[in-house]
Amino acid sequence: MPLAEYMARCNQHYYATQNPFGIDGDFITAPDISQCFSELVGLWCADLWLRAGAPQSFQLIELGPGRGTLMADALRATKMMSGFHDAVQVHMVETSLKLRDAQAAAVPQAHWHNAIDAVPDGLPSIIIANEFFDALPIEQNVITEAGWMQRAVGLEDEKLTLTLSPCGKGMSCPSRYSERETYESSPISQSIAASIASRLASNGGACLVIDYGYAELAVGDTLQAVSRHAYADILAEPGTVDLTAHVDFSALFAGSPLTRYGPATQGSFLRRLGIDARTAALCRANPDKAETLMAATARLTNPDQMGQMFKVMAVVSHDWPQPGGFGKTDYE
Ligand code: SAH
Repeated sequence: MPLAEYMARCNQHYYATQNPFGIDGDFITAPDISQCFSELVGLWCADLWLRAGAPQSFQLIELGPGRGTLMADALRATKMMSGFHDAVQVHMVETSLKLRDAQAAAVPQAHWHNAIDAVPDGLPSIIIANEFFDALPIEQNVITEAGWMQRAVGLEDEKLTLTLSPCGKGMSCPSRYSERETYESSPISQSIAASIASRLASNGGACLVIDYGYAELAVGDTLQAVSRHAYADILAEPGTVDLTAHVDFSALFAGSPLTRYGPATQGSFLRRLGIDARTAALCRANPDKAETLMAATARLTNPDQMGQMFKVMAVVSHDWPQPGGFGKTDYE
């Protein structure tokens, strides 16, 4: 079985049946670390909407919203933005029925879809994807003496094992030779990005992608399994652990007509949006929680924690303004 199909089947089962998020789950994401993260993302959207001319009707679309925490906090933080809540239609793209239930409890007014293409077309939209693309299937192509081979999952002595298979029909191979041994790509991520790009190009809007990954060409093997906050074997218990790979930001939206901003590091993006001032205000209002609040902000922004490895990239249609949070240089 090609690796991408293995990853797709495993994660479909994983998100449909397991309890991925939080201290009791397998991993913790930014919206669960600090409310500041989602508040700033919400305000990023509202600021952009306002400067785009405050369209009277627009869609706020989240891809893979997990427990719905980001959207709930983002909507709460934007309540004081005049006209924003009257204009917004909230859409969630989520395949897991179990997670849709959690999202409905947090954001009852949302509409749910299985894929971005199922979201009604025709309105401007702001699309958010936090830790979404890393969960999508990847291919691994490996250069060998026999030419390009594709990583696959096989069976040996009744145990799953990683093998290489020739790049056959239906499998895509990088056409140009690379010195690098393993070359990852995520055709499904690229096709979702292409679909977002054509929607934004015709209706106007922006997409904000936040994830761990690299700003340059894919290098090496980044596929990993996580269970109970620790690395696990990607083959040991299929569908019960979280499988992810680093996101290749250079490949997402490549060749699209949208204007690209970033990737910036998550640390610099959040600082430019004012996370330090927001944290200080929360600390003044809740002095007993100050230490926890400051530790959470440090976790999101410090280079040795999530601040550097997590990147933020925005793509924006030509008729929309420059979004907040990005510096003059491309990569900061
Ligand atoms: N954004 C959330 C959750 C990240 S986990 C957070 O930051 O906490 C990945 C999310 O993407 C889950 O909600 C999962 O069910 C969803 N997902 C995974 N593959 C998907 C697919 N192909 N289509 C739609 N949603 C998917």
